[in-house]
Amino acid sequence: MDGRDAKRSEELFRKASRCMPGGVNSPVRAFRSVGGTPPFIASASGCKLVDADGREYIDYVGSFGPMILGHAYPQVVSAICEAASRGTSYGAPTEAEVELAELICSLVPSLERVRLVNSGTEAAMSALRLARAFSGRPMFIKFDGCYHGHSDPFLVQAGSGVATLNLPDSPGVPPEFTAHTISLPYQDTDAVGRAFEKFSGRIAGVFLEPVAGNMGVVAPEKSFLARLFELAEADGALVVFDEVMTGFRLAKGGAQELFGLRPHLTCLGKIVGGGLPIGAFGGRKEIMSQLAPEGPVYQAGTLSGNPIAVSAGLATLRALVEQDPFERLERITADLAEGFREAAAANGVPIQVQACGSMFTVFFAGEPVLDFASAKKCDTRQFSRFFHGMLERGVYLAPSQFEACFVSTAHDSEAVSRTIRAAQETLALF
Ligand code: PLP
Repeated sequence: MDGRDAKRSEELFRKASRCMPGGVNSPVRAFRSVGGTPPFIASASGCKLVDADGREYIDYVGSFGPMILGHAYPQVVSAICEAASRGTSYGAPTEAEVELAELICSLVPSLERVRLVNSGTEAAMSALRLARAFSGRPMFIKFDGCYHGHSDPFLVQAGSGVATLNLPDSPGVPPEFTAHTISLPYQDTDAVGRAFEKFSGRIAGVFLEPVAGNMGVVAPEKSFLARLFELAEADGALVVFDEVMTGFRLAKGGAQELFGLRPHLTCLGKIVGGGLPIGAFGGRKEIMSQLAPEGPVYQAGTLSGNPIAVSAGLATLRALVEQDPFERLERITADLAEGFREAAAANGVPIQVQACGSMFTVFFAGEPVLDFASAKKCDTRQFSRFFHGMLERGVYLAPSQFEACFVSTAHDSEAVSRTIRAAQETLALF
């Protein structure tokens, strides 16, 4: 525990734990991997959060990715209010969802058609069904430490779960449901080559985070991505980029724009909903046209394309187009990373700050982290000490060694200086 006065959050957490499993609605929020009580958030604005005890934090969680413009961004808030005043859900098509679909397809050109869903999980599970139906093949490749939401077939080596090949990470997922999942080490092209040899003609697609965020930030070698396309295409399999985290964050067109690649299918989420629940998946016309009602592959949703969520997504994407903030975000992130490195070096603490665009992770490791196996070698106890030292000094980092932190357009030089000062003070105590 850190020394902050957290009476109200502690009281709320006790109360929450009596009526909600683990006191939270999503596991990482409970601070299990760093210990202690999570602050309950009362409000947020720009790059700051305020908790139920009135303490203020510089926020690098950003709701785990969506808040690229910072919290309560005025245009997003007014778009939400305006949309809500016209009704909250119709279960019928709207003009705004067409505008959002057009904007997504123009920003991410590999998407010729797109379907809106309600979360990244839905996007990935629907893209998998579509890839299997289009190819007529049952198996798929994913990579250890990449997370594609919590649907059954993806829960194999998904982030920090059970580390046994082909066994599900969670009770309640029958082994039969992951029997067609092949999970391989990230960046291991030889392993991918061997899988395609062994299961030639049976693999529907290769799913991956094109820059990993869910084992902490790991940007792959470009040659790894290029080789994946060669191997998949040679066997008639699809390449599916899960850009739920990287989409509209690393560049307007996501990681695929950064690397100059064109996946067959793409999953989106987080930023595309501007802080409200949206996911999306899309890709080549002939694949997407297999989807109901145009084709036979079933996928549906009562609240899909919800007008309020769509209005938040549109306002967010339009602001990103207008501001084109990606280089600036990358510079701010690089300044932070340099500050962390210097503070660690001054105190003889081995860390690796891995960053890509506005995503970063401070790994407590002596060597660069290249995959899930090397991520798991990090000193998670040191990470917890660092995390709590930063929290006590008003800096809110992602509460696990195996997560990405996010910089928003609201993080200014004062926030960066305060963050670096907090890191210097924290690491001086190691
Ligand atoms: N895919 C990736 C790459 C993610 O980072 C996440 C969530 O963190 C998901 C899928 C699942 O998205 P959601 O939590 O919206 O279901």
